[in-house]
Amino acid sequence: MKSNNILVINCGSSSIKFSLVDFEAGTHLLTGQAENLGAADGSLKWTGVSSGVKKPGKIGHEEAMREIVSVLRESGCSFVGIGHRVVHGGEHFSQSALVSPKTVEALRAHQHLAPLHNPVNLLGIEAAQAAFPEHPQAMVFDTAFHQSMPRRAYLYPIPYHLFSEHGVRRYGFHGTSHRFVTAKAAETLGRPLEDLALVSAHLGNGCSATAVLGGKSMDTTMGLTPLEGLVMGTRSGDVDPSLHKYLCDTLNLNLDEVSSILNKQSGLLGLSGISNDMRTLLEAEAKGDERAAIAVEVFCYRLAKAIAGLVVGLGRLDALIFTGGIGENSKPVRARTLALLPFLGLHLDEAANEDHGRGDRGIITRGDSPCAMVVATDEELLIARDTARVLAEKS
Ligand code: ADP
Repeated sequence: MKSNNILVINCGSSSIKFSLVDFEAGTHLLTGQAENLGAADGSLKWTGVSSGVKKPGKIGHEEAMREIVSVLRESGCSFVGIGHRVVHGGEHFSQSALVSPKTVEALRAHQHLAPLHNPVNLLGIEAAQAAFPEHPQAMVFDTAFHQSMPRRAYLYPIPYHLFSEHGVRRYGFHGTSHRFVTAKAAETLGRPLEDLALVSAHLGNGCSATAVLGGKSMDTTMGLTPLEGLVMGTRSGDVDPSLHKYLCDTLNLNLDEVSSILNKQSGLLGLSGISNDMRTLLEAEAKGDERAAIAVEVFCYRLAKAIAGLVVGLGRLDALIFTGGIGENSKPVRARTLALLPFLGLHLDEAANEDHGRGDRGIITRGDSPCAMVVATDEELLIARDTARVLAEKS
């Protein structure tokens, strides 16, 4: 019997997440993660049709991939292809692509746009090629969905040659998640995606919101890098562009130090001084912690402001989607954000929100349209489906 399984790989600098997905049934058969790669305590854990933990010690990405091979073999799992999450496809990739010498070359040419992510994504592709030489592979990009943005949304108002000669523009990220949840929302609303004006808010450790009209991204909050836009776990989101110079001049910091502050010590963590984790902050706030309360307040305010701004790119709003760890699970964040948006016609249904919208198609507002809804994201499933499609087109 022909397998419907795709192995989805998400390769980071010190980890490889993997998931074996049946793209027809939409089920995850085995998921796991190799962690602390390059360090003395490298480990591998997995769960699903089988589960377990291995502690091979200091291993690199290729060895980790070989460990993943043996876990899959021992679990009796087969698959027809491999799909890689790739962070940045630049302007070259507006859709998912088969891994070939030509596409790998094009990806290499975009390394400078995502110096922290693309080289490790490539490493994952090479390690998978070495471990599974028989299996075709595809790359699915975080940026590709946003290539439909019009120029008014993707251009920065800076000297034009910085865009035309150096590719400095807004690219947007989380594309697989925004694409997945907007398609799913149309399905649950029972309306064609082509007819809908949607804003999706992906709120996890990284956060971004996107305006989607007729299934196409029209605008999004992340930009050249995933630092722009909303308040995130440790990332600041939007700040005054002069902040870098101000901090360099006044605190005698260098640019790398400022960049590290904005990426790793800001956002929810920076404001609260406690944690980047929304659950922890809500608990601390309930116990009277003022700084945790400030962090949640700024998070919700900036999110609501961004949602209202994104509606400009749509002209109207049919549904607002909450997804990601915070969007799917945090009742107070959804409630407080919606409380700032009554002028969009969004009015919270408290009981439905308490129940995460499980009762009625994910909808957590009163009235028919517009509505706000909770949709669980599944980026691995979308990567698996795209990979299956790319492989089918090839054969
Ligand atoms: P990642 O971007 O790493 O995939 P997730 O989508 O898992 O992250 O989201 C992580 C965030 O979701 C954390 O801030 C976490 O606190 C939050 N989260 C998860 N469950 C809950 C919950 N029940 N209530 C509030 N926040 C939650």
